[in-house]
Amino acid sequence: MKCISRLFQPLITIPKNAKIKNSEITCKSQKLLLELGLIKPTGSGLFSLLPLAKRAADKLEAVLCRHIEAVGGQRLSLPTLTASSLWEKTGRLNDVGPELITLEDRHEHKYLLAPTHEETIADLLADTALSYKQLPLLLYQISNKYRDELRPKHGLLRAREFLMLDAYGIHGSIECATQTYQRVTDAYSNAFKELQLPVLRVEAPTGDMGGSFSHEWQLCASAGEDVTSVCPSCSHAKLRDEDGDICETCNREMQAFNSIEVGHTFVLGTKYSAPLGAKLVPPSGAACAVVMTCFGIGVTRLLAASLEALSTDTSLRWPTTIAPYSVIIIGPKEGSNEWPHGWERVTDVYEELSKSAAFRDDVIVDDRHHLTIGKRLMMADRVGYPLIVVCGKSASTGKYEVYRNGNSQLMTLEELTEGEKRITNKI
Ligand SMILES: [Zn+2]
Repeated sequence: MKCISRLFQPLITIPKNAKIKNSEITCKSQKLLLELGLIKPTGSGLFSLLPLAKRAADKLEAVLCRHIEAVGGQRLSLPTLTASSLWEKTGRLNDVGPELITLEDRHEHKYLLAPTHEETIADLLADTALSYKQLPLLLYQISNKYRDELRPKHGLLRAREFLMLDAYGIHGSIECATQTYQRVTDAYSNAFKELQLPVLRVEAPTGDMGGSFSHEWQLCASAGEDVTSVCPSCSHAKLRDEDGDICETCNREMQAFNSIEVGHTFVLGTKYSAPLGAKLVPPSGAACAVVMTCFGIGVTRLLAASLEALSTDTSLRWPTTIAPYSVIIIGPKEGSNEWPHGWERVTDVYEELSKSAAFRDDVIVDDRHHLTIGKRLMMADRVGYPLIVVCGKSASTGKYEVYRNGNSQLMTLEELTEGEKRITNKI
C-alpha cells in the first residue's frame, strides 16, 4: 500500500521574514512545489524532482510519447555530452555562445552539454545509409538538456537543467517536411487538448536555430515572460508587437496576455544536414542533403507552466491526467467513533480502487491517523489530488465522501469507478 507516512515529501515553511529566500521565489508554481515538498533546489537553476513531481513528470512524458508515436515517432536516446566540433561545423558554437555549458575531457577534447540535438541527429544520419522508403523519418527523445541561463528564475520555468522532448523529422523534400510539420504539430495540439491546457500556436522568428519558419507554443499565465496577442473573434495568435496588434482577417484589435513558451517547432531545411553531411541518394540523380524539421517541448517547463495556469495561490491544481496520484484516501482519526474498523475499511477501499481500470496503481492513502480528517483534507487539497475519498461516518453503509474540485458527494466505490471514464495513461 502506498502511504503518505512513508512518502518522501519534505514540507517546508518559508518564514515570512526570510527576505532573501522570498525574493528568489517569484511565481506560484515554484513556491507551492517547494513548500509542498515536490521539488528541492540543489543550486542556482538546478532542481531535484522529488517523488510526487517525478510521478507527474512521468505521466506527462507518457501523454506526450503517446501522441508523438501516433504520428510515427520512434524513441531513441542520444548522449548529452556532445563534441563541440559538431557545433563548430554548423556555426552554432559561436551563435549560441555563453548559454552553452562547455567542458573538456582528460584528453583535452572539447564537449558541451547539449541544449538540443540537431547536430547530433544530422551527424548520426551522415553515417547511415538512408533509404527513401524510410522517409519521412521521425525520431525523438526525452532527456535532460542544459542552458547556462544568465538569470535562472521562476523555478522549473527557467532552469539550467531541464527535461525536454525533442523530435526530429527527416525528409527528402521541403513538401514532405511541410506535411510532417503539419502532422506533428497537430499531434502536439492534441496532447495539449488532452491535458486541457489552452496552449496557443504562435508564428515566431527562427532565431539561432535557423530554418524557414517556426511556431512557438504559448500557454497563457501571468508569470509568463512572453506576451501573446490573441484575436477575440478568430483566436488567431501572434507574439505581441510593441505597437499593438490588429488581426488582419477580422480587422479587430487583439488582446495581449502574458504567456509561457512551452514548445518551439521549426522547419529547418538543410542548415544542419548540409554541413554535417546527412545525405540521401535519390532513385535517380545526385545525393542531396536531407531536409529536417524539429519539434521541442520543455517537459518540466510545461509541468510548471500548467501549474501556473491552473493553481490557486495556495493550492496546486494539475491537469487531471498528470496529477501525481488520481486518488487519495483519508481514513478516520484514531480514537474516533469510526476508528475501530476504520483501518480495515481504508485497506478495502485501497484494494478496490487500485485494481479498478480507472485508478490502477494510482491511489495513495493518507495514513496519518493521528491527524484529524479536516487537517488531512486540507493537505490533500493543497497538493491537488483530483479525487479525495474520505472513509468517514457513512463508510459503514458503503458510501464515501468524494471530493472533487472542492465539491463533495456521497458515493459508493462502484459509482466512483464507473463514473470515471477517463482516457488516462497509467504508469
Ligand atoms: Zn481574427
